[in-house]
Amino acid sequence: MPDHAKPRPAPAPSGAWPENFTGHRRGTNCPMCANDFAADDIGWGLLVRRGEVSNAYLWRSGQVRGYAVVIYAGRHVAEPTELDEGEAAAFWRDVLALGRAVEAFYEPLKMNYLLLGNQIPHAHWHCVPRREAGTDPAPGGPLPFEVLDLGRQDEEQVQADARALRQLLADADGRSGLQR
Ligand SMILES: [Zn+2]
Repeated sequence: MPDHAKPRPAPAPSGAWPENFTGHRRGTNCPMCANDFAADDIGWGLLVRRGEVSNAYLWRSGQVRGYAVVIYAGRHVAEPTELDEGEAAAFWRDVLALGRAVEAFYEPLKMNYLLLGNQIPHAHWHCVPRREAGTDPAPGGPLPFEVLDLGRQDEEQVQADARALRQLLADADGRSGLQR
């Protein structure tokens, strides 16, 4: 089975937290920790940058082109309050690096950054470009999560966009003296 066809955790019935949620929150069998953070493709998304403490991926799911996710990769962390000052600052720097590349490449009207963890309680940012009315699913308000979660984006487009973002991010890291 190709990586991108791997099954995702089943959504919980409405009105319930996902199965084993409190265990996952403690880090027991956390589905996010199960990812191979050394891989260029984790099935859910394509690696575009290995940051200081997290990895940035262009996500395959949903219907918003340019939707990216930055996952804390050093260890299991459920809440950002579990990070020390240095880790927290590094996590945010990683998110901003990704955000700048997404801004440069897609020229969104606005960026949204969401740290939720209601399905998988491992610290990760959803970084979502928002667009003009007519092309944005919910102008002037938060996106319904289904727009990010349901369906698959065009694979060729995702691959091509990931290559472009990887290059932008590598160039930016090179300019700031970061060699990875
Ligand atoms: Zn985890």
